[in-house]
Amino acid sequence: MADGAPTAAREYAREWDIAAADEAWRQKAAAFARDVLAPQVQEADRSGVFSRAIVKQLGDAGLIEPEGSSLLARCLIAEEIGAVDGSARGFLAVQAGLVLAPILKYAPDEHREAWAGRLAAGDAIGACCLTEPEAGSDLGAMQTTIRPDGMDVVIDGEKVWITNGGVADVLLVFGQTDPAKKTRGLACYLVPADTPGITRKPMPGKELGHRASDHAHIVFENVRVPAGNLIGEPQGGFAVAMHGLEDGRLNVAAGAVGVHRACLEASIDFARSRRQFGKRIGDFQQVSATLADMDTSLRASRLLVHQAARLKDRGLDNAHAVSAAKLVATEAALEAATNAIQLHGSRAYSDELPLERYWRDVIALTIYEGTSNIQRVILARSLLGKDLGSSA
Ligand SMILES: Cc1cc2nc3c(=O)[nH]c(=O)nc-3n(C[C@H](O)[C@H](O)[C@H](O)COP(=O)(O)OP(=O)(O)OC[C@H]3O[C@@H](n4cnc5c(N)ncnc54)[C@H](O)[C@@H]3O)c2cc1C
Repeated sequence: MADGAPTAAREYAREWDIAAADEAWRQKAAAFARDVLAPQVQEADRSGVFSRAIVKQLGDAGLIEPEGSSLLARCLIAEEIGAVDGSARGFLAVQAGLVLAPILKYAPDEHREAWAGRLAAGDAIGACCLTEPEAGSDLGAMQTTIRPDGMDVVIDGEKVWITNGGVADVLLVFGQTDPAKKTRGLACYLVPADTPGITRKPMPGKELGHRASDHAHIVFENVRVPAGNLIGEPQGGFAVAMHGLEDGRLNVAAGAVGVHRACLEASIDFARSRRQFGKRIGDFQQVSATLADMDTSLRASRLLVHQAARLKDRGLDNAHAVSAAKLVATEAALEAATNAIQLHGSRAYSDELPLERYWRDVIALTIYEGTSNIQRVILARSLLGKDLGSSA
């Protein structure tokens, strides 16, 4: 790789101003991606099998809950894992961002002690149950009900597209306590996955991407858990979800940077070696301009991700920056994956090369943890503020 090229192997820490402790995490994740994930990723995508063994290896390497690490270090880990294996990166975003982070912040001591260590070690798997057939972007439309009954609560409802849902040991389940209150009526309960009344099935059909992930349809029928399994405030489920989504969304954005980087690196190598009309295809202006644009948008995405992480690491609110990073990085990565396929021509049209997998995987990054449109809604709301004259 030439000097100046955007490779992880080059001096990432110096160029991106990464402290030694964060760089150590990045290198650890890069080694894990190279030694553990890369040898199995293509076959896992083909077979569509979720690997519990990899979860354990991620835990053993300390990559699920990197102890004492900054948020920036977690983003560097997501970039490195995301550059190689979208399913493993998707697992991490859910396990660490959507499940472990809310448990660490909101769970009563007894549940934190029971689950946090096991989730961090990869000895237990968690899933976050928000989406329903009639409630995707609009969480206030949830129809899952949570009603008190003596010392317990009873949960009834249906969840779809739950990552890790079929293999999880513990579920964070969100539901409505008062439909009139919409998001202000949501509650979150910790539910062991073997609680009676829970039925889990794989999502129907063959997924476009993330094929080595587990996505489940989960039905809750008269599911009874102790009222003490409450996570957060009695009607504070929305805050719990937003806390998880803030870190989860940034993990998704950082994963997109990894995919983008992998697409650019493959494209540079190919543009150098493939010859048509007597010269390297990279020397045709249209191809070289595409490479320059891919590099520029990669740098912009990475800067946004790092800036959002550094804000929180300095104790500042980063919600706006996270939405900007997710919007830009995931859309740019999708464009980079499309360009990489075009640039490789016919040879990219099979899974002999990983490019079609990157493209299939990366589309989901523009959908889950808030679609691109929803990131725009969040950004515009924070720019405009509340309309005090509105009667709505
Ligand atoms: C691979 C994968 C993994 C997932 N994992 C999980 C998981 O672990 N847990 C979980 O709970 N969910 C999960 N999901 C679900 C995901 O979070 C939802 O798909 C997502 O929030 C969007 O909801 P929806 O699909 O119902 O789309 P809808 O909300 O129905 O949206 C459809 C379209 O309308 C647009 N739209 C909706 N509202 C607005 C608006 N106000 N303004 C402008 N446009 C709007 C959307 O942008 C989208 O383009 C996963 C999904 C996928 C694909």
